[in-house]
Amino acid sequence: MTAGQSGVFPREFRQMAERIRYENGRWMVPDRPIIPFIEGDGTGPDIWRAARRVFDASVARVSGGKRQIHWLEILAGEKAFKQTGNWLPDATLDTIRTHRVAIKGPLTTPVGGGIRSLNVALRQLLDLYACIRPVRYFEGVPSPMREPQKLNVVIFRENIEDVYSGIEYKAGSPEADALITFLTERFGANIRPGSALGIKPMSRFGSQRLVAKAIEYALRSGRRSVTLVHKGNIMKFTEGGFREWGYEIARERFGDRTIPEAEAGKRDAGRVVMKDRITDAMFAQLVLRPDEYSVIAAPNLNGDLLSDAAAAQVGGLGLAPGGNVGDGFAVFEATHGTAPKYAGQDKVNPGSVILSGAMMFEELGWNDVAAAIVRGLEGAIRSRRLTYDLARLMPAATEVSTSAFAECIIEHV
Ligand code: NAD
Repeated sequence: MTAGQSGVFPREFRQMAERIRYENGRWMVPDRPIIPFIEGDGTGPDIWRAARRVFDASVARVSGGKRQIHWLEILAGEKAFKQTGNWLPDATLDTIRTHRVAIKGPLTTPVGGGIRSLNVALRQLLDLYACIRPVRYFEGVPSPMREPQKLNVVIFRENIEDVYSGIEYKAGSPEADALITFLTERFGANIRPGSALGIKPMSRFGSQRLVAKAIEYALRSGRRSVTLVHKGNIMKFTEGGFREWGYEIARERFGDRTIPEAEAGKRDAGRVVMKDRITDAMFAQLVLRPDEYSVIAAPNLNGDLLSDAAAAQVGGLGLAPGGNVGDGFAVFEATHGTAPKYAGQDKVNPGSVILSGAMMFEELGWNDVAAAIVRGLEGAIRSRRLTYDLARLMPAATEVSTSAFAECIIEHV
């Protein structure tokens, strides 16, 4: 079913399906929630078709048919541009705002268009300030590490601020030159004339709401620690601020349920241990002592780099899910791109968008569905009937299509 553009639902659909609500900081999820989806560009339709079958089968099996998702297509990317002349129609944003939770496949970033990146636009317009990326190992997947199973982290990356906020001026532009003059004359800054400039805004508000989300997640899921990753030894006020504000919110809002690492030990019983690490040391730590880390909270750039590096340790981006979550709004997405050369071939791995769906169900409190999907995927990997990207790396594996892989997952749900 397509809505958003027309906004008209058939009567029988209206009678059965309900919206997800958000009240007093909690999701209120009906048995038959309406969830908008963007199938995505390139291989997006292939992986979405497969993922949707896995979601529907898992929900039906776990709930004995009591629960059912009502998927509502909304347009973004190339499909939206072809049909409406707009890469990200207002109706799409309105539909996500109304229904609060959505899931999307990868989108082409239009080169040279008026909109920088559809993904960035979605995050900023809906204030989806936490990019959440769980990274864990699936038994049997080829990894460059000797003990990949030791890495099991959930990375909370700040999604709005930092050098990603888009306040950037081209070398030689009047804006860059005026800023250089201002900073030199007013503050004695030493900047080479003709430089390009980027601004790195980081606030107490933005940092604390991200760290608070990470701590809440750690408490909810029984995880042992939250590590703040920052480069505060060099960038004292921005990255150093992130560290300071992170510890501050842990102390002020979660003081009875968290404890700083320096004080942890016998007294930490059941409390979440708050740690911090300098970014470069953290990259080394994740390789050398991965099992000492659990939940990670990081500013935008650190979190971006760390997420992909961690995913590589457990076998790559093909199985790495992601969610962008704000207060009462969330969009879950495959973390890889559109892989356009395989579009329409029923060939690529749907694992990333399938696990993003599992994250979505977990966020909504349908933990049983999330667990069933993960079990299905684990079973499919064990059976060694895999899409080309994994099959070519695994001995004695059989290459299967996207849709056959989805069937195999469903068999193991
Ligand atoms: P890509 O992720 O599409 O491809 C990188 C490599 O990974 C390719 O070899 C591709 O074939 C392979 N690959 C990607 N997904 C796969 C899957 N599910 N199964 C198996 N193999 C897979 O990255 P790219 O080539 O840099 O970008 C292509 C387009 O995607 C660009 O327009 C880019 O802007 C966009 N993109 C979108 C997102 C997003 O929507 N979140 C993220 C990254 C890139």
